[in-house]
Amino acid sequence: MTVIRVGHLYPDYLNIYADRGNIAVLAERARVRGHELDVRPIGMGMDVPAETIDLFYVGGGQDRDQALVVPDLAAKSDALHEAAAGGAVVLAVCGGYQLLGRSYRDVAGVELPGIGLLPLHTVAGARRMIGDVLLDCPWAGETLAGFENHAGRTLLDEGAEPLGRVISGFGNDGASGHEGCRAGRVYGTYLHGPLLPRNPWFADRLLTEALAHAGLYTELAELPDELERAAHAVSADRARRRGGRI
Ligand code: GLN
Repeated sequence: MTVIRVGHLYPDYLNIYADRGNIAVLAERARVRGHELDVRPIGMGMDVPAETIDLFYVGGGQDRDQALVVPDLAAKSDALHEAAAGGAVVLAVCGGYQLLGRSYRDVAGVELPGIGLLPLHTVAGARRMIGDVLLDCPWAGETLAGFENHAGRTLLDEGAEPLGRVISGFGNDGASGHEGCRAGRVYGTYLHGPLLPRNPWFADRLLTEALAHAGLYTELAELPDELERAAHAVSADRARRRGGRI
């Protein structure tokens, strides 16, 4: 039994669309493989125990909540960079994803500095990008299905790796065909709400990498995942019927 130490950044501020459910999925998928998730909130003013966290999670939030956490996040930046350089996993969703980039210019035109852990920046546009999304992730030989709702248009730096290529939906900016970003074990995406319940392969990838950080190199046993596969199929189908981009 290995304990996977999860640091949940700003659970009181960045937690819209049931992002917390992603952690419940990780906990359950770890449990049935005989491992345990130890989830610690890392809120305002709290230290980031860089060496002892295997996986950081930061969820989505509206512009107002993002602005509230920005000064505190700046104080945590060095520790988060150190943790990522040491091989800790980071999953950031929507508002949290934007703040992992260099900056987010919000709908009011206010420039919020991010921590530059991912090579990108974001500028809010007038029209929100909302709906089901389907991505192709050739790096994993899989697809990701989810739901997006954001005003921010995220632009990846030249050469940065997207998390996936948009099959249906808007993705990062509605034009590039990119969605999300990945760099080593740091993942950012706009897909929120039930991201991991519908995409168990991605949950297992995060768990495998977190276990490796905890010192256990292992291949996780397959699970039946009938409901998960059905949920993925329904979501993927909704996205396909929604059609193309902006
Ligand atoms: N405030 C950001 C945007 O609208 C993020 C929203 C969210 O996390 N859903 O772009």
